Amino acid sequence: MVDISKIKDEMLIAAERAYTRGIQTGNGGNFSARIPNEDLMLVKASGGSFIDASHENLLITDFNGVLVEGKGKPTREALLHGLIYKIAPHVNGIMHCHSPWSIGWASTRRNLENVTHHLQLKFGCPIVTLDIDAAVVSADHFPKIEAIFEKYPTLPAFLLVDHGVVAVGKNIIDAEYNAELIEETAQVAFLKEIAASFCQTKNSGL
Ligand SMILES: [Zn+2]
Repeated sequence: MVDISKIKDEMLIAAERAYTRGIQTGNGGNFSARIPNEDLMLVKASGGSFIDASHENLLITDFNGVLVEGKGKPTREALLHGLIYKIAPHVNGIMHCHSPWSIGWASTRRNLENVTHHLQLKFGCPIVTLDIDAAVVSADHFPKIEAIFEKYPTLPAFLLVDHGVVAVGKNIIDAEYNAELIEETAQVAFLKEIAASFCQTKNSGL
């Protein structure tokens, strides 16, 4: 039997961790977990902060974001979460954060790749940056999401230009760890760019 309460406990651990690590401040971002053996998911209610999440504001919806159980309005990004659960059966948790270094890197419209040995060893694929010109990913954008999962079926995350990171995992805690690693790697990517420009300046004798 599925233990919904245990899944909710894991979601709260992940949410608190993301908040205290500073990868999601205020009341933005959202996260979800698949309910095994059903076309259902648990999602954060719209509007609340990660740090204030509770069993009561984690709602059960179908993969189209339609409320099945709980009080409140599901996150506006529920459609995106549902799509990922539909096309990636191995994904059981999704953490979406508006994390600053990830957003900064995504603004370059470059993928996050070849930054650290650790990232390459751990994931073995680039973190793709998707240029989706909207605050909420809608059905119009689904072909772009489907295409990256087709190309990199086990991808751990992708970036959204001017928006944030969408990290996935075998459970919600794993997805949160991936979001943290992407944020750290985006920061390192900037540091490497600065270091490279410093070396160029030095070599040019300035
Ligand atoms: Zn968002």
